[in-house]
Amino acid sequence: MRRETKLLHYGRPTLPGPANPPIVRASTILHESIDSYEGTKERRETDDSVLSYGRRGTTTAHALMSAVNDLEGGDGCCLFPTGVAAIATTLQAFLKSGDHLLVTETVFHATKTVCKQFLEPNGVTIDMIPWDATDLSSWIRPETKAVFVESPGSDTLEVMDLPAVAESAHVNNVLVIADNTYGSGWLYRPLGLGCDVSIIAGTKYLSGHADVMMGAATACGDAATSLRNAVLAAGQTLAPDDAYLTLRALRTLHLRMERHQENALQVLRWFEQQDCVLGVLCPVLPNHPGHESWSRDASGTNGLLSVVFRDEFDQRTFLDSLTLFAVGSSWGGFESLIKTFVLREDVLARYKKKQNSAIRLHIGLEHIDDVLEDLEQAMSTAKRD
Ligand SMILES: *Cc1c(COP(=O)(O)O)cnc(C)c1O
Repeated sequence: MRRETKLLHYGRPTLPGPANPPIVRASTILHESIDSYEGTKERRETDDSVLSYGRRGTTTAHALMSAVNDLEGGDGCCLFPTGVAAIATTLQAFLKSGDHLLVTETVFHATKTVCKQFLEPNGVTIDMIPWDATDLSSWIRPETKAVFVESPGSDTLEVMDLPAVAESAHVNNVLVIADNTYGSGWLYRPLGLGCDVSIIAGTKYLSGHADVMMGAATACGDAATSLRNAVLAAGQTLAPDDAYLTLRALRTLHLRMERHQENALQVLRWFEQQDCVLGVLCPVLPNHPGHESWSRDASGTNGLLSVVFRDEFDQRTFLDSLTLFAVGSSWGGFESLIKTFVLREDVLARYKKKQNSAIRLHIGLEHIDDVLEDLEQAMSTAKRD
């Protein structure tokens, strides 16, 4: 079955039955006999689909776990109430005091906070490494346990050579954990490129409608067992209503992704024609950092792109004059969003720019002409003022 069709079949209950698995809300699962109770406790140790207690997910979450596991190509998937919870718990699962962790500099800002406020005070030492590192040997020490990567990186979207990173890490027995929120199991599959764990903030494209917080971590081989045990010990779970909404949104993941990409590429072309623009950041562009890896490893882009303006351009008036675009964090919902972010020193140097603010856009599912008209009118206002 093609993966587009699979999206429509994930979690389908036995027939006759509803097309979507119903929301099952439960803490206690009732049994008629001690035999059944004890038997369930035994079976749940090796089977994630056994209904035993609410914290371990009910049939709603079980259906979503198996769907995301299939999307990512893993051996086991765990669900979390946010993407950050998935990142923090996964790192906690594989690192203890005295261990050393490598993290690429382009990771999501909250991942850096997890490292600073959670791992370092608990005795894990951390080194930040460049996004274009492929041979990790100069950073790896005997106590190095894992490397955390994100590709494409947050805001500036640099694409890593994941197969090379994974090979170099594995030679040294170092685990590779990837944040795959950009690709969301659809455009990009880090587990297939050699990574051991792939994390998705399902708050973005998986749930897709700007109304759910959730995270998923999917792992291969032994890492799947370690991760599962740590998640159970930490008491992490996803509420059935949010599992339902995410599974429901998966039905249209392929169509949404296609339209986000199509719209974003038109917006990208529009920005490229503006004389106030120094550069557009998007993996699809031939001069984009890591473009070759992206062409080799991914099946497309999404609704994200970032734009670097000339120092003299009035970026603030441009942003405030947009009416269709709301200003906001997060992305992956149906709507167009815009926000500012601070450029790293090396990117500033690349553009020979002094002013360190750039913009990140998420292009939604609106009619593209409305999006382009809004950009046009805001640009005229910014240039007039
Ligand atoms: C949003 C995001 C997260 C965090 O997800 P939350 O659900 O907001 O906690 C992690 N990584 C990346 C790349 C993200 O964009």
